[in-house]
Amino acid sequence: MTDPLPRQPLVDTHCHLVLLDERGLLDAALESAAEAGVEQIVSVGLNVDDSDCNRRVAESHDNVWFTVGWHPHQPHPPDAAELRALDQLLDHPRAVAVGEIGLDLFFRPGYHDTPLDEQLRAMHAMLDLADAHHKPVVVHDRDAHGEVLVAIRQHPGVRGVMHCFSGDAEFGRECVAAGYALSFSGIVTFPRSQPIQQAAAAAADGDFVVETDSPFLAPVPHRGRPNLPGYVDATAAAVARLRGVDEQLVRAQTTANARRLFGLPGRAE
Ligand SMILES: [Zn+2]
Ligand SMILES: [Zn+2]
Repeated sequence: MTDPLPRQPLVDTHCHLVLLDERGLLDAALESAAEAGVEQIVSVGLNVDDSDCNRRVAESHDNVWFTVGWHPHQPHPPDAAELRALDQLLDHPRAVAVGEIGLDLFFRPGYHDTPLDEQLRAMHAMLDLADAHHKPVVVHDRDAHGEVLVAIRQHPGVRGVMHCFSGDAEFGRECVAAGYALSFSGIVTFPRSQPIQQAAAAAADGDFVVETDSPFLAPVPHRGRPNLPGYVDATAAAVARLRGVDEQLVRAQTTANARRLFGLPGRAE
């Protein structure tokens, strides 16, 4: 018998503190993180302005880092001036990744209607930026598994994470082979997510992290409320149950993986 591990720290590898702030939830977000043992938060940018707002949040909170992104819902790829602004933000010492970037082929009125070719131009421009800055990328993939794989394979020097991983175990293996970790969100706690749950059970110890994507996608048992970074503990617990291992082990593994991936301080062996 080995002694049970004490409570291990967590990293919320993907949330939107600026959107939480707009909803009056920034304090609640940071308090929820402290209560759940979330020691580090990666707050993710969606465009130039949002990335710059995330920079300001990171500058004023020791446990927050930020990413510089161009979300696939942006109606056009970044123009030259926007690319320069993104490039400059990436020189900031607390900028840890390029993202979110990616492809979204789920079209619905009021959600987004950016054509695939515009999304692809944006994604490739951002992958080039990540390559130039030697930063990982945070990839958004909704209903676009095949197209995303083709795109990331065209940038073999770039590593990253598949945020809100929504594929099955086989797609997970292909992403890992391309150099990408799988990031499990609250979706993995939903009853109808068996393929994603199988991917969470099958991933190797070094290949996965956890995230909230808050304020969206609250995990069971918080569904129906705005999500908060602290709720990542429910997702880590669900992943541990799926893997048949102790929750503290999964917390330790995902935290080490997140720190290695994003270059965050702390133990990351
Ligand atoms: Zn996303
Ligand atoms: Zn997001």
